[in-house]
Amino acid sequence: MLKKFLLSLFVILLALLLIALIRTFMHTAAESEFIEGEVVSIDESKASENLAASIRFKTISYQDNEQFPKQEFDNFIKWASITYPEFHQAMKLEQLEHSLLFKWEGSDSTLAPILFEGHYDVVPVIPGTEDLWEEMPFAGTISNNRIWGRGSLDDKSGVIGLMEAATHLINNNFQPKRTVFFGFGHDEEIGGGGAALITEKLKNDGVQLHWSLGEGSFVNRGFFPGVNKLVAPINVAEKGIMNLMIVAKAKGGHSSTPSKRTAVTILAEALVKLEKEPLPGSLEGLSAAMFDEVSKHMPFGYRFLFANRWLFGGMIDSQMSSTPVINAMIRTTTAPTMLSGSIKSNVLPIEASALINFRLHPRDSIKSVTEHVRRIVGSDEVEVRSLGGMEASGISSWNSPGFNIVASSLDKIYGDVVSVPGLMIAASDTRHYSKIADNSFRFNPFSIVPEDMTGFHGTNESIDVDSFVAGVKTYVEIIAEGSSN
Ligand SMILES: [Zn+2]
Repeated sequence: MLKKFLLSLFVILLALLLIALIRTFMHTAAESEFIEGEVVSIDESKASENLAASIRFKTISYQDNEQFPKQEFDNFIKWASITYPEFHQAMKLEQLEHSLLFKWEGSDSTLAPILFEGHYDVVPVIPGTEDLWEEMPFAGTISNNRIWGRGSLDDKSGVIGLMEAATHLINNNFQPKRTVFFGFGHDEEIGGGGAALITEKLKNDGVQLHWSLGEGSFVNRGFFPGVNKLVAPINVAEKGIMNLMIVAKAKGGHSSTPSKRTAVTILAEALVKLEKEPLPGSLEGLSAAMFDEVSKHMPFGYRFLFANRWLFGGMIDSQMSSTPVINAMIRTTTAPTMLSGSIKSNVLPIEASALINFRLHPRDSIKSVTEHVRRIVGSDEVEVRSLGGMEASGISSWNSPGFNIVASSLDKIYGDVVSVPGLMIAASDTRHYSKIADNSFRFNPFSIVPEDMTGFHGTNESIDVDSFVAGVKTYVEIIAEGSSN
């Protein structure tokens, strides 16, 4: 009897293994057909010089409006008109505050327009860290085959790249069929009021965009374990943001005779509870689509796991939750940031509070997260106060013309790129533009490696010259394809 049981168990296990193996072998990428495109040739050194020159304008966004360096922004706008005369002649320009909206009229007015966007403001360099830079942050230096300075990645490369690409097309007598807009914001780093104005203006003109493309993630190599190919996470959504205040209450009094539970310890308990019960998150929808595709290019072990999520789903989820960046892609994150308690060392606080910053996954809302937190920590002693926020964006289709055009343009310029839908963890101007677009994508066609990441808002921001040039060429393809179909 036992023998029979063991034997059937063995047969079942063997069958499971066989199924898992078959699924693994089927979980491979189709041989990519290399798309032979006309090779775009641009004046590479001129394009790089122009990006370097643009960095020399200190178009810095300060939190404090008083510090707005108006002259630098005026100078940048003037410089752009002199540097890109063809671009300015072919298009109608409307300036809203210091943000710029260009319209390149298409020949077929029945087609819905497309929009390319970027921002030319940059974040400040932390005072005192200038010396840590290999090249000065606003000198616009080109050395070691890199263009150095604030904005070289975020996001003057986007703005200059787009003007370079469109200029190339204009000089080659290209005429768009579909109207093309370019929106260049001046204050993305402090909320994107300029992008909001442009969106408002287009909306009032009755414009509904076919799709839009703005800053987001980059072509990358070395971010996914075991994947040697270039990967392009084309972001189809962006996370929202919200703050809650957790307030613990207790009797105050003198610290020489504390009660067993003080407002501070009650608050601490609440924070630990929140840490233990994060918002649920797993591989599904958009993130599942991303990892399904990327994992096809991973070594056998990973493929075995991802091809058999029906068997290893729980294991994969917990593994992913332990890596901060991946965790942020699959769930709403919970981050306590600001704490306050007593005002004096010998006074027990009546209230102790913690501000919790959440980054909302598109599956959650401000309401659902607030409810989750109230359910876990809310009580007579603990109050959960809402401080408002911004919902996550809608999710654009990754089976749509815009996405496909970006993906195929990347293949033409870079060879074989694994393009997958991605989720933008930070906020961008696209949250404004997406209100008037059928689909919105957040992606820069420049390639980066993990070491480049510290440059974003950090020290030694720089872009590889070849990466910038390849990005400009990709923009040429995207604009040409996007406005012809
Ligand atoms: Zn940016």
